[in-house]
Amino acid sequence: MSSADGGRVRPGFRHGGGTVKGFVHKDQFPRPNLNDSLEGEIQAFLTDEDQLHTYDDLTKVNPVTPTTVLKCLQARYNARVFYTHAGCTLVALNPFQPIPDLYSVDVMKEYHCAPQPQELKPHIFIVAEEAYRNVQGQLEPVNQSLVVSGESGAGKTWTSRCLMKYYATVAASSSVVKSQDIVGRIERRVLDSNPIMEAFGNACTLRNNNSSRFGKYIQLQLDRYLQLLVGASVQTYLLEKTRVACQPANERNFHIYYQMIKGATDEQRKDWKMPCGQHFVWLPNAEKTVEEDCFHETVEAMVHLGINAERQREIFRILAGILQLGNVNFSPSTDESQPCNLEEQSKGNTFELLFSIPTEELQLALRVRTLKAGKQSVLKPCSQTECSMRRDCLAKVIYAQLFEWLVAFINNSICADKSMWCNFIGILDVYGFECFQLNNLEQLCINYANEKLQQHFVAHYLRAQQEEYVSEGLQWSFVKYQDNQSCLDLIEGSTVSVFSLLNEESRLNRASDCKMFRVRLEKELCDNVNISWDKFSKVPHFTVAHYAGKVNYQIQGMVEKNKDPVPPELNSLLQKSDNSLLHQIFTDKETDNMTSKGLSKVTVVSKFKNSLESLMKILHTTTPHYTRCIKPNHDCKPLTFKKEEVIMQLEACGIVETIHISAAGFPISSMHGLKLKNDWLLGVSTCFIVLAAVRSWLVRKQVQRWNRAATVIQDTWRKWKVMQLSTLQEPVTVRG
Ligand code: ADP
Ligand code: MG
Repeated sequence: MSSADGGRVRPGFRHGGGTVKGFVHKDQFPRPNLNDSLEGEIQAFLTDEDQLHTYDDLTKVNPVTPTTVLKCLQARYNARVFYTHAGCTLVALNPFQPIPDLYSVDVMKEYHCAPQPQELKPHIFIVAEEAYRNVQGQLEPVNQSLVVSGESGAGKTWTSRCLMKYYATVAASSSVVKSQDIVGRIERRVLDSNPIMEAFGNACTLRNNNSSRFGKYIQLQLDRYLQLLVGASVQTYLLEKTRVACQPANERNFHIYYQMIKGATDEQRKDWKMPCGQHFVWLPNAEKTVEEDCFHETVEAMVHLGINAERQREIFRILAGILQLGNVNFSPSTDESQPCNLEEQSKGNTFELLFSIPTEELQLALRVRTLKAGKQSVLKPCSQTECSMRRDCLAKVIYAQLFEWLVAFINNSICADKSMWCNFIGILDVYGFECFQLNNLEQLCINYANEKLQQHFVAHYLRAQQEEYVSEGLQWSFVKYQDNQSCLDLIEGSTVSVFSLLNEESRLNRASDCKMFRVRLEKELCDNVNISWDKFSKVPHFTVAHYAGKVNYQIQGMVEKNKDPVPPELNSLLQKSDNSLLHQIFTDKETDNMTSKGLSKVTVVSKFKNSLESLMKILHTTTPHYTRCIKPNHDCKPLTFKKEEVIMQLEACGIVETIHISAAGFPISSMHGLKLKNDWLLGVSTCFIVLAAVRSWLVRKQVQRWNRAATVIQDTWRKWKVMQLSTLQEPVTVRG
């Protein structure tokens, strides 16, 4: 073991933690001058430069400054060491290339069977094992959450997959579940949910070839007695459905489409009305091949989860229909009272056939709006722009509903009966903080989710730990950390906030809603320090000061996106489809939530806020474990560490503050700084410690026999598990 911390127990472990708390710095940590990092303050530290890569825990670094932390991580990265503890958090640096044997079953066994896994080299499997042992509990089992964060491409999804694979291996139950369509081991099916969800929910973006365009919280269900994996359930958040009809420049649509066009057989192409070489507007950059373009893997996973051939056919015909729909264009009619026409090239389009909806009716619904005036209906031709909007809307609503149906199907297939399990380990993989030049409602929601998670981290760990020190009467210099409550109030507050104004404008449904939204933001939130405006900017926007930095949000289109209207005619037409899946997903869809104008009473932000609140409630009932994934360079180049890019990520997640607080929990590192309030306090404490030791010796004497029996049982259990593991094959290959 190359641990520089001597294998100390880190705070945050339920079965450990420092008892003597010490001082930490309360300095502000200015961004270091990276060109001039050999400053006096860190001179001493840097004399040790050859040894930097041996620092397994950043709390050992002395002094802790952004520069020293950065240097240490860089040295470790160069030495091909990708995991480092930062007190209660694990920092994972993305190698951007497969590392042989780092995640093999043998390595899993090593961490799983170690009496003290935390004494082994830092690894994601330490976090996994820690959670696994915690959930088994000494007195009372506690559900666990593994929160994986980081920016796009940092390695969150990879890490989540590793964690799932770990549990599918060490907690594999030998049970084979047989139901009508499904035969297979549960752990295999749980892992098989990944390629399906990634095919439908991930896309190649500028920042990551396999970027998740939705958030995911998967709960691995463990049985009551042996803590074996008996099932799982997935909750997804905010799929970026706009991507299906509008792909940002140089990015792609969802993987499934490229998988289909690359992997389809001639027969399937015929069935999907997708001849070889046909151009699809909604399929940009099809020439680019990524690792994830793997159709047969998706289909195989579908089969394992019980999606039969007929259902698959329906799914792919719906997807093909959406692609064809993207090639439909409209031309304005010469007579304004008449609806737009389909452009000549769009006339032979087969989307209606693929959706199994009568051609005439569907084409009309795209071009003519039905207005209700009392009991009477009035038909009003749509403008060319409106027709295109209706087309895009149809594609988005179908894709989003199909994704929802898939997730529900997966849950049905992998969720164990409540009587079979009692505890869970949750893995949270949500999109990281996003900041483009101009940002939309999606980014506002994503960054809001990150604010919530940051608050959870601060509340659960930083604040709790500092308050504990204070309550114990230890003299303590507060580490300044950013409490982001005021930013959250600005976004989601119930009185006046960005969300409340957005919802009000969406419900009022006025013609000039964007203008009104802007006026109201400026008027009603003018005193809030977390929001600002550039009044001279050509593009109207507002700027929010997030914990991770300032982000500009474009106002144009925000209210409309929040309303997310679906023309009621389209909704009812989809219910008439002869494609039984399409029919089912639109009939099941809650139609009472719709107003007569096709507006959902539940807006995008209110729905998102509710789902996030449920998630936070679950997180608060679990013991959290944090992993911060860091992207060492924005070009995704293997083994390349760019200091400027890393430091920004370290700052954004407040890693230095975290280390300072965690370091205070360590008896060894902070011994020299220990200052108890008075000497008598030291005397009393010593007496208590001596008394406690004597008492525990007496108690131990009494329960020795019980203990011995318990140890024998535990050892037998562990040996049995080792035996099981040595006969174990990898359950399935996890991509990448
Ligand atoms: P995120 O989910 O944070 O956006 P991903 O998990 O998709 O990022 O990671 C992006 C890419 O980085 C992956 O497709 C993979 O190629 C690479 N990667 C991430 N973590 C690792 C790792 N531990 N080892 C090797 N490659 C990795
Ligand atoms: Mg991801």
